[in-house]
Amino acid sequence: MSGFKACLITTLLLFASAQACADESSTRQLSLDGVSLRIELADSKFRGGAEPLLEWIKRSLGIVTAYYGNFPTSSLRIQVVPEDGGGVHGGKTWGYRGGFIRVQAGRDVTAAQLLDDWVLVHEMTHLALPDVGDDQSWFSEGLAVYVEGISREQAGNRTQQDVFAEQMKQMPRGMPQDGDRGLDHTHTWGRTYWGGAMFCFLADVEIHRRTGNRFGLQDAMRAVAKASGGLSVDWPITRVLATGDAATGTKVLEDLYAQMKDSPVTPDLRDLWTKLGVVSDGSTVMLHDEAPLADIRRAIMQPRANKT
Ligand SMILES: [Zn+2]
Repeated sequence: MSGFKACLITTLLLFASAQACADESSTRQLSLDGVSLRIELADSKFRGGAEPLLEWIKRSLGIVTAYYGNFPTSSLRIQVVPEDGGGVHGGKTWGYRGGFIRVQAGRDVTAAQLLDDWVLVHEMTHLALPDVGDDQSWFSEGLAVYVEGISREQAGNRTQQDVFAEQMKQMPRGMPQDGDRGLDHTHTWGRTYWGGAMFCFLADVEIHRRTGNRFGLQDAMRAVAKASGGLSVDWPITRVLATGDAATGTKVLEDLYAQMKDSPVTPDLRDLWTKLGVVSDGSTVMLHDEAPLADIRRAIMQPRANKT
């Protein structure tokens, strides 16, 4: 199960501080899935050595590549910063020279913790979306939260039950609270991460519903990544959503944004999960294939054939 999700994407201004941390790293240059990778990772700083961390980077890159059809950038620099303890502690992503991710991991991190990690897939997902600006960080963070779950499930790295158990526990935190003025104007943690993820979830289901399962959010975001080149460019959210909608032949993203950007929309998530065939008794999530929208759930969770 994933923990408290938060990260920061930022621009060139903070790059110098990241550069300063690279001094003690040993650097590897390799090519994976067509991506030219520069990995800064001091082997001796981690109890288990470099190998489990390199496997984690490779696995995460493969998950994001499979979701988007191609990895969002042709080159990527990853800096793994050792910290006390175990686990993976957090990351930041820059759209700099194709992409730069700095991620903090505990010196005692285990292979099992790396297998269960959400951080690196989340950070890599940021690379596929243009910089939409601070007022729409709910979309960049929400998309990364949502895609992390779906892409890892599609790759066999999480189960459907695990992804939906997390959604059912966390997504209600994305609901508007008193005084909410819509996603563009309410920059709380809950609205940013899980309000944004809720937007993506609602959009994904609706695109599938309107297109008879021919398309989903995945197709929309593949088109955005391909047309834009990702985080290294600035696009207004309206252009992102219009590009995504054009790819699915719908207006789902633009219509949902019009509804939710300035108003506190409160969808009935419990009802939607039930229709998708996702039911929880409080401790266990069960999936029902006879539910009215179960085919949409299966289509969302099914790996897409790679498209170029
Ligand atoms: Zn993030």
